[in-house]
Amino acid sequence: MCKHILNAQVSIRAPCCTQWFDCSECHAETQSHPLARTTDMTFICKKCKKAFRKDMTAYEESDEYCPHCDNHYVIEAKTPQAAIGIEGEDARIDARLLRDQRIRSDPSRTLLRQEISERLG
Ligand SMILES: [Zn+2]
Ligand SMILES: [Zn+2]
Ligand SMILES: [Zn+2]
Repeated sequence: MCKHILNAQVSIRAPCCTQWFDCSECHAETQSHPLARTTDMTFICKKCKKAFRKDMTAYEESDEYCPHCDNHYVIEAKTPQAAIGIEGEDARIDARLLRDQRIRSDPSRTLLRQEISERLG
């Protein structure tokens, strides 16, 4: 099972070594040669375990589904980085809290401004 894309729906056959990989990083980790690019890609659906080929030069939205079982295999990849992204969301919440604190500090600034205008006045 691929550790890079946690929800991989297909395996892709590398044209260079005709071995099956879930993603290009799996290929990079196990092979010493660079992954060859091809426009004629061969997939195996993880759901129905059947192989199918796609011409990437004529790739359409309907090609995102397995021709055998209609499994939508082109989906947003769930990666370990995405999990870090969720932590990033927490950081955004922290930023929001900080902003709230800044808003909370606003009245004192207004107070200060009032004081200044009172002194000036
Ligand atoms: Zn290869
Ligand atoms: Zn991988
Ligand atoms: Zn399928």
